Formats: sequence, structure tokens, C-alpha cells
Amino acid sequence: MEQQFDCLVIGAGMAGAVAARELAERGGKKVLVLERRDHVGGNAYDCFDKAGVLIHKYGPHIFHTNNKRVFDYLSRFTPWRNYQHQVVANIPAEEGRLELPVPFNLISLRAAFPPEQAAALEEKLLAAYGPERKVTILELREHADPSIRALADYVYEHVFVRYTMKQWGQKPEDIDPATTARVPVFLSEDCRYFQDEYQGMPLEGYTPMFQRLLDHPDITVETGVDALSRMELAAGGVLLDGAPFAGTVIYTGAADELFGCKYGRLPYRTLDFVFESHPVDWWQSHGTVNYTVDEDYTRITEFKYLTGQELPGKTTIMKEYSRSYTGADGEIPYYAIINEANNALYARYREEAAAYPQLRLLGRLAEYKYYNMDAIAARALELCDELLK
Ligand SMILES: Cc1cc2nc3c(=O)[nH]c(=O)nc-3n(C[C@H](O)[C@H](O)[C@H](O)COP(=O)(O)OP(=O)(O)OC[C@H]3O[C@@H](n4cnc5c(N)ncnc54)[C@H](O)[C@@H]3O)c2cc1C
Repeated sequence: MEQQFDCLVIGAGMAGAVAARELAERGGKKVLVLERRDHVGGNAYDCFDKAGVLIHKYGPHIFHTNNKRVFDYLSRFTPWRNYQHQVVANIPAEEGRLELPVPFNLISLRAAFPPEQAAALEEKLLAAYGPERKVTILELREHADPSIRALADYVYEHVFVRYTMKQWGQKPEDIDPATTARVPVFLSEDCRYFQDEYQGMPLEGYTPMFQRLLDHPDITVETGVDALSRMELAAGGVLLDGAPFAGTVIYTGAADELFGCKYGRLPYRTLDFVFESHPVDWWQSHGTVNYTVDEDYTRITEFKYLTGQELPGKTTIMKEYSRSYTGADGEIPYYAIINEANNALYARYREEAAAYPQLRLLGRLAEYKYYNMDAIAARALELCDELLK
């Protein structure tokens, strides 16, 4: 049966789905897609929960890009809902709690400080750097005026450091100074989290978009199948169900798993998601609220803001807890922990893969990198440009 297929794609997330579509549609190939989960869409998968709310099972996904090719390409498979994501940091204050737009901007400044102090700071910042600029904490810390330097410390303490500690399980001294230096203050009233040209949400959700991507007469999708139980790498070639498979194999799973983790597991952070449904119209003020100073979770997302679903008297929120990935059953590797040692470990797996000329590693897991959806769609398109040349 396998010989009916020209290409094998492992994983039906953004990387696998775009690659499969391209190979079938543009390349005229017969493509077999194997997906371990019981659904397509990878981590961007969405579905309705028991309360009838459209949720993102693996964390909130907002589409944004400056890449016209990617936007036009995906627009063939979904109409979009115009959605401009906004995030606030929720912090304890003298009376109750404060909400500051993130990235920290002029609106945050006015919320964080008494009016006169905020106005004075705003005037100094605009005079020093000009309007609509993203100024890093590093730049602010180098300013001669102590009140501007103090602002950098305020943002570091109230928006950045504890959130990053929770997210990455680090102590302040472990946080890469280069990361800290890049934290921006946006001298603008623009409260959007992203400033990309194209942003939005698939109008009917991500899953229908993925289903349409994979809906092609030359694509066969099998879900609930771990490809590694069907495929074997041996002596520079690929066996599928025990028989030699000569076609291209695009692998979008974890690079270490492909080789039985023989050099050790690639380190990741995983996330525990706690979903709660509540009998109210709205639970919080914005789509995502970051808890940057207290609480054990990093953030709460309320899906109805993202999806635009109209469902009076019901809402579902999700709390995110970050911790180390151990490789235990059911745990999902979410964020690669990029550093020199881990990159070197990844390079060993990459080198192993290079011994199989028909095998291509694509996607956030196979490439051990954080990619946004648009970046991974772009990479899939480029890989297919190369393969179909
Ligand atoms: C919490 C969170 C929030 C995010 N939010 C955003 C956002 O707002 N905007 C944005 O642009 N990006 C966001 N991203 C990034 C986005 O999830 C990725 O860009 C995207 O998932 C990458 O697609 P992929 O196909 O490489 O990987 P995945 O989506 O992980 O897909 C890989 C697929 O391969 C399957 N697979 C793995 N191994 C095997 C195997 N052996 N056999 C069969 N199948 C296998 C997996 O089950 C999975 O379905 C977010 C990521 C996280 C973790």
C-alpha cells in the first residue's frame, strides 16, 4: 500500500499540513500524512468544550504576520475575523489591583504612576526618544536622568522578571542579560500586542482551516498513528511498515524521538493548562491577562475575546502553568530551551538525520526552535519550493 505514496509527512500541524498540501497540489504527489494525535492542527487545534465555548486545547493561538505570501496562502483555506490581540499585566496595587497594557506603553505609564509624575516622565521620554518608538530597558538604563532609569527598573520588576522566572523556571541571575536588555517600553498609545500588518483569527476556527488544507484527493490523513511505530530508519534509507520507502519524508515531530533519544532528551518547558467555565458573559478585561508579580500561573486567557464567539452567560478561561518537560507519557514539549549546550545536543540529532537524504526535518519540534505559525508556514512553503524545483 505504501508504494502508492510519493511522500510521507509526519505530523499534521502547520508544518505538516502546509507541506502536504503543497506536495499534493503543486507537486502532483500522492501524500500520506500520519498524525499521532486523534486530530489535525497540531498545537493550533481548537474545539468546543462542554460549555459550548470554542477553546484552544494547547494554548491560545493568535495569527499575525508581515508575510504576504503566508497570509494569502492561508486565506485560501479560511476567511478571517479581524482581531487585534491585547494583553495586560495584572499586578497588586495599594488598593486592589492594577492592569497595565503589555508591552508597557504610555497608557501603562499613566496607570502605574500618579498623574503629575506620569506626565513628567512622558514628556521626558518623548523628548529623549521621540513618539511611537520601542525603547529597550537597556537604553532607558543608560539615560542620564535618574527618573528614566527608575522607570526601566519599574518595568523590569513589575512586568518582566517574575513572569520570566515562572515561564522558564529561572532565578533572576539565570536570565540571559540580552533578553532583559530587549524588554521594550513602547512610546505610544497603541495597546495591541502585535503590530504586524496582517492579524486575525480564522473565522470558523483553526481546525476547519487545517481540515481544508488537508482536504485534497491526493492527501491521505491517518490520525491516532505514531509514525515511529510504522517507520524505521536503517542504513541511510527509510522503511515504512517494513518495506523500503523511496519517497521524500517530511518529519515534524521531535528530533530526539526520531533517534530513540540516544544522546539524551532535548530539554523543553511544558505547560499545564487548567480550564474553567463560568456562568458569566465575561470573566476578565482582555483576551489575555498576564500575572507578572504574583500567582503561580503565568497568564489567563479568555477564549471568547479571541474567537468572537457570542455566547451569553457562559465563558471559558484557561490558566497556564509552566514547568520542566520530563518526557513522561502525555506530556507535551512546548518551548525549546535554547542555549549553547542544547543547541549542541540538537546538532548531533541533526547530523544523524543528514545521513538520510530523503528525510527533511521541518517545524518547531524537528528544528528545536520557537516558531510562530506564520514563520513555520513560510518555512514549509520554502521547503516545498526547493523540493519541487
Ligand atoms: C502555548 C503556545 C502558544 C502559542 N501561541 C502562538 C500564537 O499566538 N501565534 C503564533 O503564530 N504561534 C503561536 N505558537 C506557536 C505555534 O504553536 C507553532 O508555530 C506551531 O504549532 C508550529 O507548527 P508545527 O507543525 O511545527 O508543530 P505542532 O503544531 O506541534 O505539530 C506537530 C505535530 O506532529 C505530531 N507528531 C509528533 N510526533 C509524531 C509522530 N511520531 N507521529 C505522528 N505525529 C507526530 C504532533 O502530534 C503534532 O500534531 C504558540 C505555541 C505555544 C506552545
